[in-house]
Amino acid sequence: KTLSTAELRQRFLDYFRERGHTIVPSSPLVPQNDPTLLFTNAGMVQFKDVFLGREKPGYTRATTSQRCVRAGGKHNDLENVGYTARHHTFFEMLGNFSFGDYFKREAIQYAWEFLTREVGLPEERLWVTVYEEDDEAADIWLKEVGVSAERFSRIGAADNFWSMGDTGPCGPCSEIFYDHGPEVPGGPPGTPEEDGDRYVEIWNLVFMQYDRDASGEMTPLPAPCVDTGMGLERIAAVLQGVHSNYDTDLFQRLIHSAAEAVGGDQDLSHPSLKVIADHIRACSFLIVDGVIPSNEGRGYVLRRIIRRAVRHGFKLGASGSFFHKLVPTLVEEMGEAFPELRRRQDDVIKALRREEERFAETVEQGMKLLDEAIAGLEGDTIPGDTVFKLYDTYGFPVDLTADIARERDLKVDQEGFDAAMNAQRERARAASSFSAAHGAAPDVDAETEFTGYEKTGHTATVTHIFRD
Ligand code: ATP
Ligand code: MG
Ligand code: MG
Ligand code: MG
Repeated sequence: KTLSTAELRQRFLDYFRERGHTIVPSSPLVPQNDPTLLFTNAGMVQFKDVFLGREKPGYTRATTSQRCVRAGGKHNDLENVGYTARHHTFFEMLGNFSFGDYFKREAIQYAWEFLTREVGLPEERLWVTVYEEDDEAADIWLKEVGVSAERFSRIGAADNFWSMGDTGPCGPCSEIFYDHGPEVPGGPPGTPEEDGDRYVEIWNLVFMQYDRDASGEMTPLPAPCVDTGMGLERIAAVLQGVHSNYDTDLFQRLIHSAAEAVGGDQDLSHPSLKVIADHIRACSFLIVDGVIPSNEGRGYVLRRIIRRAVRHGFKLGASGSFFHKLVPTLVEEMGEAFPELRRRQDDVIKALRREEERFAETVEQGMKLLDEAIAGLEGDTIPGDTVFKLYDTYGFPVDLTADIARERDLKVDQEGFDAAMNAQRERARAASSFSAAHGAAPDVDAETEFTGYEKTGHTATVTHIFRD
């Protein structure tokens, strides 16, 4: 019997609970303890202060299924969604953590045992990498676990050395990949062909071993820690015998629901349905966690994702709002694991519907303008002033226009857009006593931002920029 995504999540948590780990609930997508971070993008985020020794929870081993968003900020996978089999804007990261308790040996053994015994993956399908200088981890893999040298490699710092920031805890990683087989293009980890989807990275084990100071010098931490992350959707795909995350139980239900909401006769393998199925999760959970669509910071990322989903629906022939109609299916699939989703389901539907309706008012005209611009195009680049007009008058975020451009093998003139945007900002600044905060840095605090936004005259300028 194949495991459902929900069963797999529980299986993982139980496995580590049986090995002395405390099951800790997922923290929200808006980080509570880190204003520099746009969204929670890994399981370790909620434990940052524990790793730094500033906080002492009542346990030294923990396990979580952490909701994550990687859309905007340092980790941005938005552009990948719909194009790779393995990337989402929203995903769950399964993790086990040791706070000065066990280290490399146990972390590696647990991961290997979970994959090969607990869920029964064949060893020949698993590939392992370590950081090039980490002989200790290499020895554990090769000599103790007995991984074949043919499926083992040493990788440089770009992929296999992790740090929390420029200073602070850091250390080598070891990653486990799954080989989906020769039918899928792509090469083993560490080769130039790695970017294909054949060898999919499933689990990253981070060994926090050093403390780096401002001069770059690294001193060993007195109590090294372990932080691991495995994408639930990726391991679900592996265990359900499918290559694409979008062919798993959870995504198939969302895709069916999307097809139904859009209406008409849909090809269920259409990439736009994948995009919509992906985006409903990100948008719903962002709203659950207090983000509302706006023109700044987190709210703007949410707005961009909603508008992208809506545009893909229109592309499939949707008339009227459809996106919010996926929420009940999502709640059925994920409401048990995330009770806050069930609790706030009505708010999610309302917020999505409002934003959909807002965008629907202009999307058609915007598409018309874009189609005309493309028809009259000389080269392969959509000019910056068109991109800006789409943004300014019709509410098309740049990445949305870029998404459309990409489908038609075109590019957007980002520089031209930036120039038009700056000119606009200058005008707005001149016309107002405060500076337009559009495109604000990720450290804006969503809460203050929104209240400030409604209650002051601030909206005037922003609205002028964004027109809604
Ligand atoms: P990739 O190289 O495939 O982009 P990553 O190295 O960026 O992954 P990590 O930061 O190591 O990923 O995160 C730990 C795990 O989380 C990954 O091994 C993967 O299983 C999962 N993961 C990361 N990004 C995504 C995503 N955008 N969608 C789904 N799962 C993801
Ligand atoms: Mg990545
Ligand atoms: Mg990687
Ligand atoms: Mg990784």
